[in-house]
Amino acid sequence: MDLEKNIQPLLSTKQIEEKIKQMGEALTQAYQGKELVCVCILKGSIVFFSDLIRSIDLPLTIDFLRVSSYGHATVSSGEVRLVQDLSQSIEGKHVLIVEDIVDTGHTISFLQSYLKAKHPKSLALASLLFKPSRTECEVHIDHLGFTIDNHFVVGYGLDAAEKYRNLPYVGILQTNEESS
Ligand code: 5GP
Repeated sequence: MDLEKNIQPLLSTKQIEEKIKQMGEALTQAYQGKELVCVCILKGSIVFFSDLIRSIDLPLTIDFLRVSSYGHATVSSGEVRLVQDLSQSIEGKHVLIVEDIVDTGHTISFLQSYLKAKHPKSLALASLLFKPSRTECEVHIDHLGFTIDNHFVVGYGLDAAEKYRNLPYVGILQTNEESS
């Protein structure tokens, strides 16, 4: 496929599927009898989110937050801006933030303080990916899919200038020098 020309596969569809099944089982255990709201961080988390919520065997509600951090660059500016807010109150509810990737940690630190101020009963984080070598803020990930090395990855919701989100796996985007 033309879309995959510059991509080196990193995590296969099957690996992701298996991991999400395990995460779903752990989340189903953790939130038994609790009122759970899953918050999808747009746009990158949308594919992970839609698979993860279907692996949680509990009644739950969903909501969306959109932040902008990178613009079209592949390096974090450290600046996070809220673009779209929640549509419901989360006061007194158990909230699970669903992120695609924690890189420097600026986005998630911003989101955690933003949501804490809305007084949820609990606030936890599920992230598909984590790049520990890039961390600049201390972040605790309650439910983690995969730890990866310092690569710029795309696919399974993650983009580069809005492309590649529809790849069914996660791959490393090769720079021109690497792919030539
Ligand atoms: P952080 O604030 O932790 O540095 O970055 C978090 C956000 O940056 C993620 O939600 C994601 O949108 C973007 N990001 C960080 N690393 C990558 C990456 O390797 N690939 C892509 N496509 N986006 C990334």
